[in-house]
Amino acid sequence: MKVLVTGGAGYIGSHVVKALGERGYDVGVYDNLSTGNKWAVLYGDFYHGDLNDAKRLEEVIESFKPEAVMHFAASIIVSESVRDPLKYYFNNVSNTINLLKAMNRFNVKKLIFSSTAAVYGLAKKIPITEDQPMNPINPYGVSKMMSEMILRDLSIANSEFRYVSLRYFNVAGADEYCRIGQAYKEPTHLITRALKTALGQYKKMQIYGTNYNTADGTCIRDFIHVDDLSDAHILGLKYLMEGGDSNVFNCGYSKGYSVREVISKVKEITKIDFPVEEVAPRDGDPPVLIADSTKIRDFLKWSPKFNSLELIIKSAWRWELKFKEIKDFIEN
Ligand code: UDP
Repeated sequence: MKVLVTGGAGYIGSHVVKALGERGYDVGVYDNLSTGNKWAVLYGDFYHGDLNDAKRLEEVIESFKPEAVMHFAASIIVSESVRDPLKYYFNNVSNTINLLKAMNRFNVKKLIFSSTAAVYGLAKKIPITEDQPMNPINPYGVSKMMSEMILRDLSIANSEFRYVSLRYFNVAGADEYCRIGQAYKEPTHLITRALKTALGQYKKMQIYGTNYNTADGTCIRDFIHVDDLSDAHILGLKYLMEGGDSNVFNCGYSKGYSVREVISKVKEITKIDFPVEEVAPRDGDPPVLIADSTKIRDFLKWSPKFNSLELIIKSAWRWELKFKEIKDFIEN
């Protein structure tokens, strides 16, 4: 079966491409390499292209002939979205519309969509179930909410079009053989920043906000290993192929860790102490995001293999060590 993966050279996309390839799917990757890397595409055909380039996109869909699309290509940094909302509405909403138009033109009717826990924003009840209202507090979350609404309306207007939207909580970790992992030029995510600080690539770690209404005053997040998230995509795809209706699923382990807890776990695992500075809160950060993952476990029979913060950090640490080795080799 042929699957086109937008953003398949990025962090999460490349892990899903790996999972698809390992299971025998025929993969096409469509990526503009703005944040992704061609070396991260372990399987399939690579098509360089931008979602804003309708001609190129249509040409690729017409020649590759996918039966389904997985759509990862997006901008994903909360703080950047607060500073530059238009970038987020353009890359995440406009480009999703471009993709849907091209899919429609060539009769591709199934989509797995990368959504986010940021759509919940200030959730009323923790852990968060999928039926809670979307209440995003940053442009990134709004852009994903808008895309979800577009998908919903499209599936109502055209009953043949079906989608699964996966709302990712905080994704971390890397391939077990360290072939791929997070490789952003300017990483902003908590675990990656802490590991790179342990490696001496940053002088200190900053905690954004210590007066939240949580046990230790710092934000709480639910971390999920990228390979478990990849499995969720495969299950979502099978569900659609077997005739499942459009649906939305949380992807998380239903366990939250505070920023302080994550940093001390990183110190424990790396056995490296590093300076930590407490600074002002970052704009747009919801205090607590913890998934209720009952629905995906029941509906898709998702059964995570790496659900421990320790496993996630160890896996990310192995990758950071290898990535540093490769970078040092190239640079010297
Ligand atoms: N965070 C932090 N210092 C950092 C990076 C992140 O204190 O260097 C906090 C951030 O404010 C948020 C949490 O860690 O409360 C998770 O942030 P991340 O960027 O990893 O993911 P997000 O939840 O924003 O998608």
